[in-house]
Amino acid sequence: MKLNSPMEVWKYLPGTNCKECGEKTCLAFASLLLERKKKLEECPPLFEPKYAEKGKKLAELLAPEVREVEIGIGERARKIGGEDVMHRHERTFFNRTALAFDVWDTMKEEELRERVRRITDWKKFYVGEFLKVDAIAVRSVSGDANTFARCVKRVAEETDFPLVLCSFDARVIEEGLKEVSDRNPLIYAADKENWKEFLGIAKRYKVPVALFSPDLDMLNSLAVTFSSAGIEDIVLDPGTYPEGQGLEQTFSRFIKIRRAGIVEGNKGIAYPLIAVPMTAWMVHGTENALEASYWEAIIADLFIIKYADIMILHSIEPHSLIPERTLVANIYTDPRRPVSVEPGLREIGNPTEKSPLFVTTNFALTYYTVESDIASNKIDSYLMVVDSEGIGVESAVAGGQLNAESFKDALESFNVADKVKHKTMVIPGLAARLSGETEDVTGWTVLVGPRDSGRIPGWMEKNWPPETVS
Ligand code: SF4
Repeated sequence: MKLNSPMEVWKYLPGTNCKECGEKTCLAFASLLLERKKKLEECPPLFEPKYAEKGKKLAELLAPEVREVEIGIGERARKIGGEDVMHRHERTFFNRTALAFDVWDTMKEEELRERVRRITDWKKFYVGEFLKVDAIAVRSVSGDANTFARCVKRVAEETDFPLVLCSFDARVIEEGLKEVSDRNPLIYAADKENWKEFLGIAKRYKVPVALFSPDLDMLNSLAVTFSSAGIEDIVLDPGTYPEGQGLEQTFSRFIKIRRAGIVEGNKGIAYPLIAVPMTAWMVHGTENALEASYWEAIIADLFIIKYADIMILHSIEPHSLIPERTLVANIYTDPRRPVSVEPGLREIGNPTEKSPLFVTTNFALTYYTVESDIASNKIDSYLMVVDSEGIGVESAVAGGQLNAESFKDALESFNVADKVKHKTMVIPGLAARLSGETEDVTGWTVLVGPRDSGRIPGWMEKNWPPETVS
């Protein structure tokens, strides 16, 4: 039985409304528990003997269907897995796919350090946040344990990003692990040949371990073996084959595993999944770098959608990285809440009382697009961000979240008339049908701007300043 509503959760709480959790009522706490914004430990009474039974049951019922595994330590640590649904619109996905980019132990020291810096410094501004990558995967190419350990040490000196240590040779992994055992790296990977050695290492060092097998029965068996031995921080790799039927079967395996864990309740295989899109390079080769990175990005995008929780990638070129990381950002937003910004009056550049007043909604994607189009064209202006409940212009006009009254409320609550003396506002072209009523309700002159904010400069040439301003 899964708990789906705050009332269902509330039944397991003490119900005393004592406020020790910082919430006014147990029901409010129940709602936040369900959203994973609070933890059970924040309700101390739940751990008193008289409520302990309920607390234990609640912990079981709230545990995600797919186990949550943490890699790395401190602020950079990344949680992977922990999902409850097959499709994000059933509820939401919680832990976005972690992108780990590779370095390898045959790189020259300077080249290695430079690549680590490029990976960890990469960022791209998108809808109000800087997109970054999540982890570094250190690959053993030399096959030599000491060479690998040296490489791991250098990477660890250069960054505090979570690490994935990659080799099928347990001896190599252990030497590398000795350098970073306090950093909780993921070790990759145990298979049907080496599992005993990897099990020993995972137990000794208490680190998460990836298990590899394209045979799902074997993968399940490995997971059950590790779990029975007390290792629960498991990540599953069902193999990533980069082309043809192999790719089709890979896709099918990812879906089967996730379905078994979430829909069929098979706890033996309900662990996070790892994909390795960089296998595209094995087919296309470094001599066809553009083609290889193109296919790597396609495979990555496929498994960001279904259902990789972490992946190992090679290309750090913008044409691969930007679509991959942007897709992660989009898939792992909460579909129940539009991504929004605070309503308010923004100043762009150095506006005066004669500068234009543009209007937009507080849907984050719209806001940042409009703001960027105005700022990049160096148009000194005001931008009034109206509360449309986080919905874009066209839908908000249709749904009634954006109307003449909401323009009036915004003008009044942001005291716009104190700064904009000409009492003229430019509404989005997609809200043109609100212009007449808005003039009646607000008493301001309304100009209808372009439908696309990229055309604001051209619109300005023809329409600004109007007679009301000059
Ligand atoms: S601490 Fe526990 S019992 Fe007290 S109000 Fe919060 S949820 Fe209820």
